Amino acid sequence: MVLPRRANAQTLSVWCGKVEVMAIAHPVTLTFLGAAGTVTGSKYLLTIGERRILVDAGMFQGEKEWRLKNWEPLPVDAASITDVLLTHAHTDHSAYLPALVRQGFTGPIWATDGTIALTEIVLRDSAKLQESATKEAIAGGYSKHAAPVPLYDGGDVEATLPLFREVEFDAPLDLGDGVSATWVRAGHILASASIRVETPETSVLFSGDLGRHDHPILKPRATPRGAAYVVMESTYGDREHPEPEVPHEPLADAIRRTIERGGAVVMPAFAIDRTEVILYALSQMMREGRIPVVPVIVDGPMALKALEVYTDTSLDELRDGVSVTDFARLPTLEITRTSNQSKALNKRRDPRIIVSSSGMAEGGRVLHHLARLLPDARNTVVLTGFQAAGTRGRALEEGAREVKINGHYVRVRAEIVRDAEFSVHGDASDLLDWVRALDPAPETVFVTHGEPDVARILADRIEDDLDIDAAVATYGEVVSLLPAIRDEQIEEVPEEG
Ligand SMILES: [Zn+2]
Repeated sequence: MVLPRRANAQTLSVWCGKVEVMAIAHPVTLTFLGAAGTVTGSKYLLTIGERRILVDAGMFQGEKEWRLKNWEPLPVDAASITDVLLTHAHTDHSAYLPALVRQGFTGPIWATDGTIALTEIVLRDSAKLQESATKEAIAGGYSKHAAPVPLYDGGDVEATLPLFREVEFDAPLDLGDGVSATWVRAGHILASASIRVETPETSVLFSGDLGRHDHPILKPRATPRGAAYVVMESTYGDREHPEPEVPHEPLADAIRRTIERGGAVVMPAFAIDRTEVILYALSQMMREGRIPVVPVIVDGPMALKALEVYTDTSLDELRDGVSVTDFARLPTLEITRTSNQSKALNKRRDPRIIVSSSGMAEGGRVLHHLARLLPDARNTVVLTGFQAAGTRGRALEEGAREVKINGHYVRVRAEIVRDAEFSVHGDASDLLDWVRALDPAPETVFVTHGEPDVARILADRIEDDLDIDAAVATYGEVVSLLPAIRDEQIEEVPEEG
């Protein structure tokens, strides 16, 4: 672990010396099995006596060094994990679940109703992507393995889905053994949550991914009760998102000039949430006359399924004043369901905006659009979210002159535009505000889910600005979560000798 700069680690070890005096029945430890040293693969193992609770089961994405970890067996026997608590449906938080089941996990997976609906879509898509990547690797002969196999397949997903159990927001869930968990709105994607776990001896709050203070279409995040320990994300812990007077004006400008020169706009977008937020922004721009009324094509079965969940009013997730017509019923919206419909788009020459996943251009239908449209300088690619190191999206963001798609090098002549306003992660101020609002204030914040430099910057700001100890978690490390240490408690412990 990268220790906090101040004395907290030392006080923890002093406290360890008094464990016997305090007769703590259940030592509580936290093991960082992912999203430590990187933004993906969220997995935190909370061990409370005999209980093993895994908070999130995300897949590693991006750099190969991390992706390979998806294939390593978990350092803990999956069959011994008693529960999984899920913050939200994103791949890097949920898509390891079928691999966990394949390794013997049979316990309940607790999540909100909307998260369950979205995770089902994510897992099915993930299995399909892996199966097809495996087939292509075999056919193309570019796998290093003699007989490549997917991490999991559709059968593993079907075995995972019956394990889901629905939880309500803000209602403590009794997990037995005096342990309870409470889901609180995180405002990041539909039904996303922070999870606060209370044990007989301590409490720990997992931020999950935190939304900005103002998600354009979803109910805003709420403030959870504070906890002794906080595990918090730091994706954008080193920067502030732009908040211009006219929202998304650089995007509107890019769309106007692309359409004027007869090009097409491609927006690689995460199927979940980003597609909905993009549609909302485009619909507003068209209504306000800021961009021409051109066809908007949502290409991707996963995005369409997610759109169905976002327009399911029974989930009660939309913020006041927003209705489904604001983003799901654009007059020029076209939807392509089949892959033949998707391929037919390549023949079109009319001005158009294509929204297609995946958001970091690592897979999905957006790849064939990029392969086709990147070499033409009239076109524009709009990056709409965080681009992890090692992804094609990151390469485009950093000005790559060519990218490799399906084994071929593709020249990049199209204009590349980044719209940071679409981020559904809070920026540094949002993250600090969230910690500041916690009551009681945490003893220690473990900073995770960020690139190492960024996590360090956020940890320093938590210490400097909020006067709370913060440590950057490292992959595989185990920390002891002992009771909050308070001066008056120390005085009650008799001095030895
Ligand atoms: Zn997320």
